[in-house]
Amino acid sequence: MATINDNYLKLKAGYLFPEIGRRVAAFAEANPDAPIIKLGIGDVTEPLPEACRTAMVRAVEDMGDRDSFKGYGPEQGYLWLREKVAQHDFQSRGCDIDASEIFISDGSKCDCGNILDIFGSNNSIAVTDPVYPVYVDTNVMAGHTGPANENGEYGGLTYLPISAENAFTASIPSEKVDLIYLCFPNNPTGAVASKEHLQAWVHYARAHGSIILFDAAYEAFITDPAIPHSIYEIEGARDCAIEFRSFSKNAGFTGTRCALTVVPKTLMGKAADGSDVALHSLWNRRQSTKFNGVSYIVQRGAEAVYSPEGQAQTKALIDFYMENARIIREQLTSAGIAVYGGVNAPYVWVKTPNDLSSWDFFDKLLHSCHVVGTPGSGFGAAGEGYFRISAFNSRDNVNEAMRRVTEKFRV
Ligand SMILES: *Cc1c(COP(=O)(O)O)cnc(C)c1O
Repeated sequence: MATINDNYLKLKAGYLFPEIGRRVAAFAEANPDAPIIKLGIGDVTEPLPEACRTAMVRAVEDMGDRDSFKGYGPEQGYLWLREKVAQHDFQSRGCDIDASEIFISDGSKCDCGNILDIFGSNNSIAVTDPVYPVYVDTNVMAGHTGPANENGEYGGLTYLPISAENAFTASIPSEKVDLIYLCFPNNPTGAVASKEHLQAWVHYARAHGSIILFDAAYEAFITDPAIPHSIYEIEGARDCAIEFRSFSKNAGFTGTRCALTVVPKTLMGKAADGSDVALHSLWNRRQSTKFNGVSYIVQRGAEAVYSPEGQAQTKALIDFYMENARIIREQLTSAGIAVYGGVNAPYVWVKTPNDLSSWDFFDKLLHSCHVVGTPGSGFGAAGEGYFRISAFNSRDNVNEAMRRVTEKFRV
Protein backbone atom coordinates (compact mmCIF):
# COMPACT_ATOMS: atom_id res chain seq x y z
CA MET A 1 0.00 0.00 0.00
CA ALA A 2 1.15 3.53 -0.66
CA THR A 3 2.63 5.22 2.39
CA ILE A 4 1.75 8.70 3.59
CA ASN A 5 3.69 11.74 4.75
CA ASP A 6 3.75 10.77 8.42
CA ASN A 7 4.57 14.33 9.40
CA TYR A 8 0.89 15.13 8.95
CA LEU A 9 0.13 12.84 11.89
CA LYS A 10 2.15 15.15 14.16
CA LEU A 11 -0.23 18.05 13.47
CA LYS A 12 -2.53 19.06 16.26
CA ALA A 13 -5.84 18.47 14.49
CA GLY A 14 -6.83 22.09 13.66
CA TYR A 15 -8.13 22.60 17.17
CA LEU A 16 -8.85 26.32 17.48
CA PHE A 17 -11.49 27.24 14.92
CA PRO A 18 -13.36 23.90 15.00
CA GLU A 19 -13.56 24.18 18.79
CA ILE A 20 -14.89 27.75 18.51
CA GLY A 21 -17.44 26.51 15.97
CA ARG A 22 -18.47 23.64 18.24
CA ARG A 23 -19.03 25.89 21.27
CA VAL A 24 -20.88 28.53 19.24
CA ALA A 25 -23.10 25.88 17.61
CA ALA A 26 -23.93 24.31 20.98
CA PHE A 27 -24.81 27.71 22.45
CA ALA A 28 -26.89 28.68 19.41
CA GLU A 29 -28.80 25.42 19.60
CA ALA A 30 -29.62 25.94 23.27
CA ASN A 31 -30.40 29.65 22.70
CA PRO A 32 -31.89 29.86 19.21
CA ASP A 33 -32.98 33.50 19.66
CA ALA A 34 -29.63 34.85 20.90
CA PRO A 35 -28.30 37.33 18.30
CA ILE A 36 -24.67 36.20 18.08
CA ILE A 37 -22.06 38.66 16.77
CA LYS A 38 -18.83 37.13 15.49
CA LEU A 39 -15.70 39.20 16.06
CA GLY A 40 -13.49 36.17 15.82
CA ILE A 41 -12.78 35.83 12.16
CA GLY A 42 -9.71 37.07 10.32
CA ASP A 43 -11.67 37.74 7.15
CA VAL A 44 -12.80 41.04 5.68
CA THR A 45 -16.49 41.91 5.52
CA GLU A 46 -16.78 44.96 3.23
CA PRO A 47 -17.20 44.64 -0.57
CA LEU A 48 -14.44 45.00 -3.17
CA PRO A 49 -13.45 48.57 -4.09
CA GLU A 50 -15.23 49.85 -7.18
CA ALA A 51 -11.95 50.55 -8.99
CA CYS A 52 -11.01 46.86 -8.68
CA ARG A 53 -14.42 45.64 -9.84
CA THR A 54 -14.43 47.97 -12.84
CA ALA A 55 -10.94 46.83 -13.85
CA MET A 56 -11.96 43.17 -13.53
CA VAL A 57 -15.11 43.66 -15.61
CA ARG A 58 -13.00 45.31 -18.32
CA ALA A 59 -10.55 42.41 -18.10
CA VAL A 60 -13.40 39.92 -18.57
CA GLU A 61 -14.30 41.81 -21.77
CA ASP A 62 -10.64 41.55 -22.88
CA MET A 63 -10.95 37.80 -22.54
CA GLY A 64 -13.94 37.83 -24.90
CA ASP A 65 -12.04 39.31 -27.80
CA ARG A 66 -9.62 37.25 -29.86
CA ASP A 67 -7.12 40.15 -30.05
CA SER A 68 -7.00 40.91 -26.34
CA PHE A 69 -7.61 37.35 -25.06
CA LYS A 70 -4.96 36.07 -22.62
CA GLY A 71 -3.90 32.48 -22.18
CA TYR A 72 -1.20 31.47 -19.73
CA GLY A 73 0.45 34.55 -18.29
CA PRO A 74 3.98 34.80 -16.92
CA GLU A 75 4.36 32.55 -13.85
CA GLN A 76 5.86 35.53 -12.00
CA GLY A 77 2.91 37.79 -12.78
CA TYR A 78 2.39 40.44 -15.46
CA LEU A 79 5.14 43.03 -15.59
CA TRP A 80 2.63 45.91 -15.52
CA LEU A 81 1.49 44.75 -12.06
CA ARG A 82 4.98 43.96 -10.77
CA GLU A 83 6.18 47.41 -11.83
CA LYS A 84 3.32 49.14 -10.02
CA VAL A 85 4.00 47.10 -6.88
CA ALA A 86 7.72 47.87 -7.02
CA GLN A 87 7.10 51.56 -7.46
CA HIS A 88 4.18 52.15 -5.06
CA ASP A 89 4.90 49.65 -2.29
CA PHE A 90 8.69 49.74 -2.23
CA GLN A 91 10.54 52.40 -4.24
CA SER A 92 8.24 55.16 -2.96
CA ARG A 93 9.38 54.22 0.56
CA GLY A 94 13.03 54.25 -0.38
CA CYS A 95 13.29 50.44 -0.69
CA ASP A 96 15.69 49.27 -3.36
CA ILE A 97 13.37 46.61 -4.83
CA ASP A 98 13.03 45.99 -8.57
CA ALA A 99 9.95 44.65 -10.39
CA SER A 100 11.97 41.56 -11.36
CA GLU A 101 12.26 40.69 -7.65
CA ILE A 102 8.48 40.56 -7.19
CA PHE A 103 6.52 37.34 -7.69
CA ILE A 104 2.73 37.69 -7.97
CA SER A 105 0.82 34.78 -6.44
CA ASP A 106 -2.62 33.62 -5.38
CA GLY A 107 -2.00 34.15 -1.69
CA SER A 108 0.44 34.83 1.10
CA LYS A 109 -0.74 31.78 2.99
CA CYS A 110 0.33 29.56 0.09
CA ASP A 111 3.60 31.44 -0.38
CA CYS A 112 4.47 31.16 3.32
CA GLY A 113 4.08 27.40 3.01
CA ASN A 114 5.55 26.99 -0.47
CA ILE A 115 8.70 28.95 0.33
CA LEU A 116 9.90 25.94 2.34
CA ASP A 117 10.40 24.11 -0.99
CA ILE A 118 13.59 26.09 -1.59
CA PHE A 119 15.11 25.63 1.87
CA GLY A 120 17.00 22.65 3.24
CA SER A 121 15.52 20.34 5.83
CA ASN A 122 18.13 20.97 8.53
CA ASN A 123 17.52 24.65 9.18
CA SER A 124 16.76 25.73 12.72
CA ILE A 125 13.53 27.71 12.76
CA ALA A 126 12.20 30.41 15.09
CA VAL A 127 8.62 31.59 15.48
CA THR A 128 6.99 33.89 18.00
CA ASP A 129 4.53 32.56 20.56
CA PRO A 130 1.64 33.40 19.95
CA VAL A 131 1.96 32.97 16.20
CA TYR A 132 0.01 32.78 12.91
CA PRO A 133 -0.39 28.97 12.84
CA VAL A 134 0.52 28.62 9.14
CA TYR A 135 4.24 29.18 9.84
CA VAL A 136 4.30 26.31 12.30
CA ASP A 137 2.06 23.80 10.56
CA THR A 138 3.83 24.11 7.20
CA ASN A 139 7.12 23.30 8.90
CA VAL A 140 5.54 20.31 10.62
CA MET A 141 4.23 19.04 7.27
CA ALA A 142 7.67 19.48 5.71
CA GLY A 143 9.19 17.33 8.45
CA HIS A 144 11.18 20.15 10.04
CA THR A 145 9.96 19.44 13.59
CA GLY A 146 9.55 16.71 16.13
CA PRO A 147 6.19 15.79 17.66
CA ALA A 148 4.17 18.26 19.73
CA ASN A 149 4.28 18.24 23.53
CA GLU A 150 1.24 18.69 25.79
CA ASN A 151 1.44 22.49 25.30
CA GLY A 152 1.21 22.01 21.55
CA GLU A 153 4.85 23.04 21.10
CA TYR A 154 6.76 21.10 18.45
CA GLY A 155 10.20 19.71 19.15
CA GLY A 156 12.96 21.41 17.21
CA LEU A 157 11.23 24.79 16.83
CA THR A 158 12.50 27.80 18.75
CA TYR A 159 9.57 29.66 20.30
CA LEU A 160 10.10 33.34 21.08
CA PRO A 161 7.48 34.40 23.64
CA ILE A 162 5.75 37.75 23.12
CA SER A 163 3.54 39.37 25.75
CA ALA A 164 2.71 42.74 27.25
CA GLU A 165 6.03 42.52 29.16
CA ASN A 166 8.09 42.85 25.96
CA ALA A 167 5.56 44.99 24.05
CA PHE A 168 4.80 41.91 21.92
CA THR A 169 8.18 42.11 20.22
CA ALA A 170 10.42 39.08 20.74
CA SER A 171 13.87 39.50 22.16
CA ILE A 172 16.59 38.52 19.72
CA PRO A 173 17.61 34.90 20.49
CA SER A 174 21.01 34.19 21.95
CA GLU A 175 21.46 31.04 19.88
CA LYS A 176 21.72 30.88 16.09
CA VAL A 177 18.57 30.17 14.10
CA ASP A 178 18.53 29.90 10.31
CA LEU A 179 14.97 30.93 9.48
CA ILE A 180 12.96 33.49 11.45
CA TYR A 181 9.28 34.24 10.86
CA LEU A 182 8.27 37.81 11.68
CA CYS A 183 4.78 39.22 11.14
CA PHE A 184 4.30 42.99 11.48
CA PRO A 185 1.73 44.42 11.98
CA ASN A 186 1.12 41.26 13.90
CA ASN A 187 -1.64 38.73 13.68
CA PRO A 188 -2.86 37.98 16.36
CA THR A 189 -1.50 40.66 18.76
CA GLY A 190 -1.87 43.76 16.56
CA ALA A 191 1.65 44.82 17.60
CA VAL A 192 4.06 46.66 15.30
CA ALA A 193 7.84 46.77 15.15
CA SER A 194 9.87 49.95 15.36
CA LYS A 195 12.66 50.61 12.91
CA GLU A 196 15.14 49.87 15.72
CA HIS A 197 13.57 46.47 16.43
CA LEU A 198 13.70 45.44 12.78
CA GLN A 199 17.24 46.82 12.53
CA ALA A 200 18.24 44.52 15.40
CA TRP A 201 16.76 41.51 13.58
CA VAL A 202 18.50 42.43 10.32
CA HIS A 203 21.76 42.83 12.20
CA TYR A 204 21.28 39.43 13.83
CA ALA A 205 20.36 37.76 10.54
CA ARG A 206 23.37 39.17 8.72
CA ALA A 207 25.71 38.19 11.54
CA HIS A 208 24.42 34.58 11.54
CA GLY A 209 23.63 34.07 7.86
CA SER A 210 19.95 33.70 8.81
CA ILE A 211 16.96 34.56 6.66
CA ILE A 212 13.98 36.56 7.90
CA LEU A 213 10.59 35.56 6.46
CA PHE A 214 8.73 38.85 6.87
CA ASP A 215 4.93 38.77 6.62
CA ALA A 216 3.61 42.28 5.92
CA ALA A 217 0.01 41.29 5.11
CA TYR A 218 -1.28 44.10 7.35
CA GLU A 219 1.16 46.89 6.41
CA ALA A 220 -1.64 49.05 4.97
CA PHE A 221 -3.16 49.34 8.45
CA ILE A 222 -0.15 51.19 9.86
CA THR A 223 -1.19 54.67 10.99
CA ASP A 224 2.00 55.74 12.81
CA PRO A 225 4.36 57.36 10.25
CA ALA A 226 7.43 56.20 12.19
CA ILE A 227 6.62 52.48 11.75
CA PRO A 228 8.25 50.75 8.74
CA HIS A 229 5.88 49.16 6.22
CA SER A 230 8.53 46.91 4.69
CA ILE A 231 11.56 45.08 6.03
CA TYR A 232 13.45 46.59 3.08
CA GLU A 233 13.18 50.00 4.73
CA ILE A 234 15.97 48.60 6.93
CA GLU A 235 19.46 48.85 5.54
CA GLY A 236 20.93 45.44 4.77
CA ALA A 237 17.57 43.64 4.58
CA ARG A 238 18.03 42.87 0.87
CA ASP A 239 20.69 40.37 1.90
CA CYS A 240 18.71 38.58 4.61
CA ALA A 241 14.94 38.86 4.06
CA ILE A 242 12.02 37.62 1.99
CA GLU A 243 8.81 39.66 2.29
CA PHE A 244 5.22 38.46 1.86
CA ARG A 245 2.46 40.89 0.90
CA SER A 246 -1.20 40.36 0.09
CA PHE A 247 -4.14 42.21 -1.41
CA SER A 248 -6.43 40.24 0.92
CA LYS A 249 -6.70 42.65 3.82
CA ASN A 250 -5.98 46.08 2.28
CA ALA A 251 -8.26 45.66 -0.75
CA GLY A 252 -10.66 42.92 0.39
CA PHE A 253 -9.18 40.24 -1.91
CA THR A 254 -9.58 37.32 0.54
CA GLY A 255 -12.04 35.69 -1.85
CA THR A 256 -10.51 37.09 -5.04
CA ARG A 257 -6.93 35.89 -4.30
CA CYS A 258 -3.86 37.92 -5.13
CA ALA A 259 -0.63 38.39 -3.21
CA LEU A 260 3.08 38.79 -3.81
CA THR A 261 6.42 37.66 -2.50
CA VAL A 262 9.64 39.64 -2.76
CA VAL A 263 12.87 37.69 -3.17
CA PRO A 264 15.80 40.09 -3.69
CA LYS A 265 18.38 38.92 -6.21
CA THR A 266 21.17 39.53 -3.70
CA LEU A 267 19.68 37.08 -1.17
CA MET A 268 21.79 33.92 -0.88
CA GLY A 269 21.49 30.52 0.73
CA LYS A 270 24.14 27.82 1.22
CA ALA A 271 24.29 24.73 -0.97
CA ALA A 272 25.53 21.40 0.43
CA ASP A 273 28.89 21.95 -1.29
CA GLY A 274 29.29 25.23 0.61
CA SER A 275 28.65 27.51 -2.34
CA ASP A 276 26.25 30.47 -2.23
CA VAL A 277 23.11 30.15 -4.36
CA ALA A 278 20.66 32.96 -5.15
CA LEU A 279 17.27 32.16 -3.63
CA HIS A 280 15.65 34.28 -6.36
CA SER A 281 16.62 31.76 -9.03
CA LEU A 282 15.36 28.85 -6.91
CA TRP A 283 12.01 30.53 -6.20
CA ASN A 284 11.69 31.43 -9.88
CA ARG A 285 12.34 27.79 -10.78
CA ARG A 286 9.88 26.60 -8.15
CA GLN A 287 7.11 28.93 -9.29
CA SER A 288 7.70 28.22 -13.00
CA THR A 289 7.41 24.50 -12.33
CA LYS A 290 4.58 24.29 -9.83
CA PHE A 291 2.52 27.43 -10.51
CA ASN A 292 0.91 28.89 -13.61
CA GLY A 293 0.23 32.40 -12.41
CA VAL A 294 -2.73 34.36 -11.13
CA SER A 295 -5.62 34.96 -13.53
CA TYR A 296 -5.30 37.98 -15.83
CA ILE A 297 -8.65 39.25 -14.55
CA VAL A 298 -7.56 39.21 -10.92
CA GLN A 299 -4.19 40.84 -11.69
CA ARG A 300 -6.03 43.68 -13.47
CA GLY A 301 -8.17 44.03 -10.33
CA ALA A 302 -5.03 44.19 -8.18
CA GLU A 303 -3.43 46.72 -10.52
CA ALA A 304 -6.43 49.02 -9.99
CA VAL A 305 -5.50 49.26 -6.29
CA TYR A 306 -2.66 51.56 -7.44
CA SER A 307 -4.85 53.91 -9.51
CA PRO A 308 -5.82 57.20 -7.83
CA GLU A 309 -9.40 55.90 -7.35
CA GLY A 310 -8.13 52.57 -6.06
CA GLN A 311 -5.82 54.30 -3.58
CA ALA A 312 -8.67 56.46 -2.28
CA GLN A 313 -11.09 53.53 -2.05
CA THR A 314 -8.68 51.16 -0.29
CA LYS A 315 -7.76 53.95 2.12
CA ALA A 316 -11.46 54.44 2.90
CA LEU A 317 -11.80 50.69 3.49
CA ILE A 318 -8.87 50.64 5.89
CA ASP A 319 -10.06 53.79 7.67
CA PHE A 320 -13.42 52.10 8.14
CA TYR A 321 -11.90 49.02 9.81
CA MET A 322 -9.54 51.14 11.88
CA GLU A 323 -12.46 53.20 13.18
CA ASN A 324 -14.01 49.88 14.26
CA ALA A 325 -10.73 49.05 16.00
CA ARG A 326 -10.73 52.44 17.72
CA ILE A 327 -14.29 51.88 18.99
CA ILE A 328 -13.38 48.42 20.29
CA ARG A 329 -10.30 49.75 22.07
CA GLU A 330 -12.14 52.70 23.57
CA GLN A 331 -15.14 50.73 24.77
CA LEU A 332 -13.14 47.88 26.29
CA THR A 333 -10.82 50.35 27.98
CA SER A 334 -13.83 52.17 29.45
CA ALA A 335 -14.95 48.83 30.90
CA GLY A 336 -11.59 48.52 32.64
CA ILE A 337 -10.25 45.84 30.31
CA ALA A 338 -6.60 46.14 29.19
CA VAL A 339 -6.22 46.19 25.41
CA TYR A 340 -3.23 46.12 23.06
CA GLY A 341 -2.92 46.50 19.29
CA GLY A 342 -5.75 47.95 17.23
CA VAL A 343 -3.87 51.16 16.41
CA ASN A 344 -1.74 49.98 13.47
CA ALA A 345 -3.55 46.69 12.88
CA PRO A 346 -7.16 45.47 12.61
CA TYR A 347 -6.79 43.23 15.66
CA VAL A 348 -7.30 44.20 19.27
CA TRP A 349 -5.47 41.91 21.69
CA VAL A 350 -7.28 41.84 24.98
CA LYS A 351 -5.87 40.88 28.38
CA THR A 352 -8.62 38.75 29.84
CA PRO A 353 -10.13 40.42 32.93
CA ASN A 354 -9.78 38.86 36.40
CA ASP A 355 -7.07 36.50 35.12
CA LEU A 356 -9.63 34.37 33.33
CA SER A 357 -8.18 31.78 30.99
CA SER A 358 -8.60 32.52 27.30
CA TRP A 359 -11.30 29.85 26.95
CA ASP A 360 -13.14 30.89 30.14
CA PHE A 361 -13.32 34.45 28.80
CA PHE A 362 -14.51 33.07 25.46
CA ASP A 363 -17.36 31.22 27.20
CA LYS A 364 -18.26 34.21 29.37
CA LEU A 365 -18.40 36.54 26.38
CA LEU A 366 -20.44 34.05 24.39
CA HIS A 367 -22.91 33.28 27.15
CA SER A 368 -23.39 36.72 28.69
CA CYS A 369 -22.92 38.97 25.62
CA HIS A 370 -23.45 36.59 22.67
CA VAL A 371 -20.17 37.87 21.25
CA VAL A 372 -17.57 35.56 19.72
CA GLY A 373 -13.84 36.26 19.70
CA THR A 374 -10.72 34.10 19.44
CA PRO A 375 -8.97 32.67 22.52
CA GLY A 376 -5.33 33.78 22.58
CA SER A 377 -4.18 30.36 23.76
CA GLY A 378 -5.20 29.01 20.34
CA PHE A 379 -2.25 30.89 18.83
CA GLY A 380 0.29 29.41 21.21
CA ALA A 381 0.93 28.70 24.88
CA ALA A 382 2.07 32.28 25.56
CA GLY A 383 -1.28 33.56 24.23
CA GLU A 384 -2.97 32.14 27.35
CA GLY A 385 -4.76 34.90 29.23
CA TYR A 386 -5.29 36.92 26.05
CA PHE A 387 -8.11 37.15 23.54
CA ARG A 388 -8.24 38.44 19.94
CA ILE A 389 -11.05 40.70 18.76
CA SER A 390 -11.18 41.47 15.06
CA ALA A 391 -12.19 44.86 13.63
CA PHE A 392 -13.42 43.20 10.43
CA ASN A 393 -17.16 43.70 10.78
CA SER A 394 -19.98 46.15 10.13
CA ARG A 395 -20.14 49.31 12.27
CA ASP A 396 -23.52 48.23 13.63
CA ASN A 397 -22.19 44.87 14.77
CA VAL A 398 -19.15 46.46 16.40
CA ASN A 399 -21.24 49.07 18.22
CA GLU A 400 -23.77 46.51 19.38
CA ALA A 401 -21.10 44.03 20.51
CA MET A 402 -19.31 46.74 22.49
CA ARG A 403 -22.57 47.95 24.01
CA ARG A 404 -23.21 44.45 25.34
CA VAL A 405 -19.68 43.94 26.60
CA THR A 406 -19.49 47.27 28.44
CA GLU A 407 -22.91 46.58 29.98
CA LYS A 408 -21.90 43.16 31.35
CA PHE A 409 -18.25 43.74 32.16
CA ARG A 410 -17.13 46.32 34.69
CA VAL A 411 -13.73 45.41 35.98
C1 LIG B 1 -4.67 37.15 6.19
C2 LIG B 1 -3.21 36.89 6.36
C3 LIG B 1 -2.39 36.70 5.25
C4 LIG B 1 -2.92 36.77 3.84
O1 LIG B 1 -3.15 35.51 3.33
P1 LIG B 1 -3.72 35.33 1.86
O2 LIG B 1 -3.44 33.91 1.56
O3 LIG B 1 -2.94 36.27 0.97
O4 LIG B 1 -5.18 35.67 1.88
C5 LIG B 1 -1.04 36.48 5.46
N1 LIG B 1 -0.52 36.46 6.70
C6 LIG B 1 -1.28 36.66 7.79
C7 LIG B 1 -0.65 36.66 9.13
C8 LIG B 1 -2.65 36.86 7.65
O5 LIG B 1 -3.41 37.02 8.74
